[in-house]
This record gives sequence, C-alpha cells and structure tokens, in this order.
Amino acid sequence: MVLHIDMDAFFASIEEAINPRLKGKPLIVGSRGNRMHTVVCAANYAAKALGIHSGMPTKRAYSIYYKLEFVPADQSKYIWTSEQIFELLKGYNLPLNYASIDEFQLDISAYPDQKAVSLGKEIKAQIYANFNITASVGIARNWLLSKLASKINKPDGLTVIDDSNFEQTLRKVSLDKLCGMGGKDGQSLMAKGLRTCWDLYLNLPGFFDNNAGKFDENSGKSNEMPKSMSHSYTLPKVELNPQVVRAWIRLLSEMVAVRLRQQDLVSQTVHLWLDGPEIGSFGAQKTCQAQTNDGYEICQRALKIMAKLGPKSPKIRAIGVACGNLSRDIYHQPLLKEEIRREGLIKALDRINNRFGEGVIYPAITAFTR
Ligand SMILES: [Mg+2]
Repeated sequence: MVLHIDMDAFFASIEEAINPRLKGKPLIVGSRGNRMHTVVCAANYAAKALGIHSGMPTKRAYSIYYKLEFVPADQSKYIWTSEQIFELLKGYNLPLNYASIDEFQLDISAYPDQKAVSLGKEIKAQIYANFNITASVGIARNWLLSKLASKINKPDGLTVIDDSNFEQTLRKVSLDKLCGMGGKDGQSLMAKGLRTCWDLYLNLPGFFDNNAGKFDENSGKSNEMPKSMSHSYTLPKVELNPQVVRAWIRLLSEMVAVRLRQQDLVSQTVHLWLDGPEIGSFGAQKTCQAQTNDGYEICQRALKIMAKLGPKSPKIRAIGVACGNLSRDIYHQPLLKEEIRREGLIKALDRINNRFGEGVIYPAITAFTR
C-alpha cells in the first residue's frame, strides 16, 4: 500500500499562510516581480475558481479579475518548506520517497490496513499544525492509484481506493486525468473508444498492477544513483522563432536521454526551465506514471509544460531540460505497438551513434539549432 501526499496549491498556500491578509482572496504567484508582465506560476483555490491557472500570462489573469492579489515567486521559501515537510514525514519511520517539491510517498505495506486512514488524517493534521497549509492524501495499493486518489477530493482531501470502490472510482475518472495518459498513448486509447480509467482497466487490467513494484525509496540513504540529469543552453541572442526554440528543447531532451540510457536509468519527472524577456524565469515540471528515457517522449512532456505559457510563443534566451524521479530501467514488455517500434528505433540509433560518433544521426528538427 502507498500513501501519496500532494500539497494543495503549494506555492500559493505558503504565501497565504505567511501573510494572513491574503487568506481566501484570489491570489497568484508570479514567475517574477512585474505583475503585468509575467506568468502565473501558482494560483490559490479562490483564483482557480475564477478560471485562473498556472502557466497563464498574468495579463490574462488580471483581465479575468482585476483585484487579484499578487506575490512574486520565492523558490527558496518553497524548497525550504518542502524539505521541512519531508523531515516531518521521516519521523514516521516508513519508507519515504520525495516525488517532487509538493508530492511525497510513504510505503505503508508494513502498516496495518485498518489504520491507514487514521495515519493519513494524522499526517494531514501535522502538516496543517506545523505549516498552516493543507495537503490531500491518497491511499491505494500502488503508486499510480494512490496518486490518482490524492487528486480526487482536492483540496484537503483524503481518498482511499480499495477493492470495495475500485470500479466505482475508476468509472468516474476520465482517462486523460490518469498520470501519463495526457499524451499520445492516451489519445490512441481514446481513439479506440476508451473513455474512463475503468475502460482502460477492462482492456488492460495489468496496467493498474504493473506499478506495484514502482516505489523507489530515496529517504536520504547513500545511493550512487543521481537524483536528476539535466542539460541547459543559453542562446546567443533572444530567440523569436518558436521552431528554433522547439528544436533546442528536442536537442537538450535527446542529450539528457542518451545519458539516462548510458546509465540504465528511466525518469518519471520532466522539468523545463525557460528564461526570456517577457516571461522572466519560468520553471515547471510534469510527473507521469510512464517512465521514459526516450528523447522524443521527454521533449513531448517538456513541450506540454511550455504550452502552459499560452498559445503565443514567448521570446526565449535560455533553456534547460532536467529529468528527475530516476530509477533503474527494469525491462518491461511494451504494451503498445508504437512503443515496440520506438524501442527498436532507439536501440538502432544508439548503436549507430556509438559506432560512428555522437550525433552522426539525429532527429531532423534539431537541425534548426545549427
Ligand atoms: Mg500539488
């Protein structure tokens, strides 16, 4: 059993907790100081209720509600709080995983089942008492389901998915809400007529079980495995052409992917960092159920993060791609035809580049970086 903790509107909640004047008012945290010329980096629930969400240009957010409260992002404050929460959770002496800045997982397999809910309640109460912010907890038999459960009753929720409500819960959740199903795999399954998580279960029952062994403890144990891998690049000038920006994201994604494969690692979290005159410093991450070390896939996830900035492509000066949530690449039989084909292609490309030199063969789009 896994107990997944997902902080509610983390950055915005921290700001509200620190400044009681902001409590309950629609609030956005901006990527940088200038409130009219940046991007929403986090929105509290009062702002979300108005249709404001992270990634939206602040100008747009203000056009929705002109009295919006604004605080510039203070990453060090959020990292500090995240680490304090991690320390608090260590106190439970259960295998613990730092999944992202606002998500944590406890392996509660050794914990009595009937006490799991009271443990979840206690953790929520502890977090609230110490930091004056709320978390949503999901409890289920594996990583994927517990993460899904944590999302169902946000904010301040506690949801258990077990045998008694498994079907009923999965029927209610549309497939694209499932971690890792927002992209191509999800679309191809939707095209086959699968609509809800329950449809997926009926077609691929193993999908919800394959993740059972996925829990990777990294609670500060000495571990030769790196925490993340990244590449970044500062462009010679501010780049206006979105194709060139996309080409760089692809190239950096491929560079990270090659290193992951060399070390037999796969990643679940992609972090994209962009810097430009209009957006300031923007960083966001996306965690998916499906592990990858495929540069194309990493790039697709990074582009999805960039899409949060809106339909208009911003001017870009520097780009970074990082992969986190790393684990050993344990071979699994690909489920979809497309995956089998990709796997063969990547192996062939690695062999060619190993034999004839790095970058002998490369994705066509990266030619725009030359
Ligand atoms: Mg969260």
